[in-house]
Amino acid sequence: MSVLDVLVWPHKILETKAEPVTRFDDDLRKFVSDMVETMHASGGIGLAANQVGELRRVIVIEIPWTESPDPAQQEKKETWHDKRWVLINPVITKKSGKIKWQEGCLSFPEVFDFVDRAAEVTVRAFDENGKEYEIQANDLFAVCIQHEIDHIDGIVFFQRMSRLKADIIKKKMLRRGSVNV
Ligand SMILES: [Zn+2]
Repeated sequence: MSVLDVLVWPHKILETKAEPVTRFDDDLRKFVSDMVETMHASGGIGLAANQVGELRRVIVIEIPWTESPDPAQQEKKETWHDKRWVLINPVITKKSGKIKWQEGCLSFPEVFDFVDRAAEVTVRAFDENGKEYEIQANDLFAVCIQHEIDHIDGIVFFQRMSRLKADIIKKKMLRRGSVNV
């Protein structure tokens, strides 16, 4: 396994639609392992193939559940916590409710902002062995799935915000880029 480079906006691939996976072979399984390792190494809870420069409809998600020292602040442990999810060629078949979550993105370091999403989604996807399955997702898991499916559709999260917020984020990112040159 190897850790891949995570691309940062304004890289063009982040705004390009990815192609469906047609072969569920060892090359795909190696790529999925590399994506999981990259997600862990970057401290992310989700990663889409576009973010590592590959236009394939592949997403990995793993959301750790953390125990809080204060029981009043304790987040409920859901069945989707602490599991490695591989979503290949995912399709949202049902959406309901509304949720606003402060999202971050590995392709936008140090940018966090609120995005409106559906509170619950039903998704059909394939795993890395080509087995089709269905997921019912809520809360952060639903937010994360919608954020990552946007990535493989070539949509970055500021496109889901107001023009004003998007302009602020773009400026911040472009300024950051020029400092690094
Ligand atoms: Zn992202």
